[in-house]
Amino acid sequence: MTAQMPPPPALGCRASPVLKQRGQREVFCGLTGIIWLHRKIQDAFFLVVGSRTCAHLLQSAAGVMIFAEPRFGTAILEESDLAGLNDAHTELDRTVEQLLARRPDIRQLFLVGSCPSEVIKLDLSRAAERLTQTYAPKVRVLEYSGSGIETTFTQGEDACLASMVPVLPSTEARELMVVGALPDVVEDQMLALLDDLGVGPVRVLPARNIESDTAVGSNTVFALTQPFLGDTHAALERRGARHIAAPFPFGEEGTTAWLAAIAREFGVTEEQFAKATDAPRRRARQAIAQAAAPLADKSVFFFPDSQLEIPLARFLTCECGMTPLEVGSPYIHDALHGPDLDLLPQGPQISEGQDVDLQLDRCREARPDLTVCGLGLANPLEAEGLSTKWAIELVFTPVHFYEQAGDLASLFARPLRRKSILGVAAE
Ligand code: SF4
Repeated sequence: MTAQMPPPPALGCRASPVLKQRGQREVFCGLTGIIWLHRKIQDAFFLVVGSRTCAHLLQSAAGVMIFAEPRFGTAILEESDLAGLNDAHTELDRTVEQLLARRPDIRQLFLVGSCPSEVIKLDLSRAAERLTQTYAPKVRVLEYSGSGIETTFTQGEDACLASMVPVLPSTEARELMVVGALPDVVEDQMLALLDDLGVGPVRVLPARNIESDTAVGSNTVFALTQPFLGDTHAALERRGARHIAAPFPFGEEGTTAWLAAIAREFGVTEEQFAKATDAPRRRARQAIAQAAAPLADKSVFFFPDSQLEIPLARFLTCECGMTPLEVGSPYIHDALHGPDLDLLPQGPQISEGQDVDLQLDRCREARPDLTVCGLGLANPLEAEGLSTKWAIELVFTPVHFYEQAGDLASLFARPLRRKSILGVAAE
């Protein structure tokens, strides 16, 4: 089956030389993922084993109201813990006992490591094993690291999902697993599209609760919805599942290519594909055309932050008419990012990792119309007259699949619109 897509460029960026940099970086840590994961996995609790700084980051980023019962918290490591004067494992056991006694709704407990717990080499995998033995089968205890040492903020979700893969039940059924935390409304739209194609059974990871039917085995094929799930991809392959490589489902063309790869795998006919996708594709194209007008012929520069940079550069270039100058990503994983790189015409500098001062110099010299970067860089660049888009907003806003394609273009158009309005007002 074909999906009537525009032909790929004669020369895509997959084989382009990559500028690799390992210097000072400006990124949030992996604890940030808890903010969307605790909403998604409704019977889970995320217990960060960290410092007061970690607790403050979560409290301020999540903006929890004090009368709500949050599904995350921090077991604070005090100075005496850091100095090795207390037995941190005993303290952690006591904290977990109090928590589970007070919150019988918790079925999955994630112990989340941080910079301080890593520095004192607190072995959370041993703690998770011990606590699982104590609280199984009612509560499953897993652990992963959200530390900011050598990680980026989206790696928190990757580490969380990867920690779930080894404990998924086994199955020999031929099933599609869709991997990546999506807002419920977007996940429901995706499931409806796959249902219209006649693809199934479909399982999701992470599931909304522990009682879901998500299982894995050698007949499982999986598709990723987020480009930052490298460790989860490897963990699923270790369980015998096979990855369906595809561009990521951003914009009309990305969504169509993603669905087409799944449709090919499941033998969906061209007629069936057209029947299921023609109307939403048309709506998405119209929405993008309306929202993307301010983006046409503008240049864009990506600092490495969310790991969404490559698929978003593909979307902005191929669907919105922008010219990418540099596309920086914290990591480039050929199995995940290759299909989007194939569709991105050669021209931009592709860079992996960061040396922030050198990259700022390149950005200042290029003077892009729009710079996509982390919060820490956005304000200084705005003060220098550059329009910026916060990369973190792209993870907190529903942006996947056809119905969100216009909103995705609007997110990038907004700073340019604001600048032109301010420019007119100042004249
Ligand atoms: S995990 Fe590390 S970077 Fe993140 S808030 Fe805690 S101390 Fe800071």
